[in-house]
Amino acid sequence: MATLQLHNITKRFGDTEVIKGIDLEVNDREFVVFVGPSGCGKSTLMRMIAGLESATDGDILIDGQRINDVGPADRGLAMVFQSYALYPHMTVEDNMGFSMRLAGVSKEKRRAKVLEAAKILQLEPLLDRKPKALSGGQRQRVAIGRAIVRNPSIFLFDEPLSNLDAALRVQMRIELARLHDELDATMIYVTHDQIEAMTMADKIVVLHDGVVEQVGSPMALYHHPRNRFVAGFIGSPK
Ligand code: ADP
Ligand code: MG
Repeated sequence: MATLQLHNITKRFGDTEVIKGIDLEVNDREFVVFVGPSGCGKSTLMRMIAGLESATDGDILIDGQRINDVGPADRGLAMVFQSYALYPHMTVEDNMGFSMRLAGVSKEKRRAKVLEAAKILQLEPLLDRKPKALSGGQRQRVAIGRAIVRNPSIFLFDEPLSNLDAALRVQMRIELARLHDELDATMIYVTHDQIEAMTMADKIVVLHDGVVEQVGSPMALYHHPRNRFVAGFIGSPK
């Protein structure tokens, strides 16, 4: 089980309020997409969920427990960013196993876990390669593999496909959807791309200037946008 609740989450940087009292529920095993224009606060919200940034106000709950004061490593989450810096001097296997090595997991156990993730991501033939010998899509899969081996209850993706070309983005969308089915995990996915939101989400959260404009299924938002902003962003053109 992994549910997430945000209660009145606010973030101020100095005098500027960039997240303005957000309430939100993410259900167990849901694929939720945060969508909104650049600068609306998507990454700030994700970083607060991940524990990389503190909330100025409000509560963050996982499975009903308040986790505001729990460190990022102990939240049971794994985050995949747009810039998925891999360690250039390490092989794919060592990149994927690195967090386990830090945690003192034995070599045999690391290898077993990496192989399991590599199988899901079709990285098995590439485990001995260094990152520079991989394509962009393969590198991104390694970054996702690093997240998988941590067994997170919730995956956080912040524009993970933005650096890939259009064809690869389409392929990775399909792979992420398959991953969601196979892992039975809760996933929160940030994008400024409406098509990505429409094709991947169980539930879309439309953000604008630090507030939630509307929450709903892709079809609900498409056919019944609540206001002009949502209509302009993902609504039907009628
Ligand atoms: P998005 O991910 O939707 O593009 P961000 O969450 O990165 O938006 O940024 C939201 C707003 O908060 C922007 O106006 C940005 O300039 C501001 N912001 C983000 N991080 C900081 C920070 N560390 N200090 C000051 N302002 C910030
Ligand atoms: Mg961002």
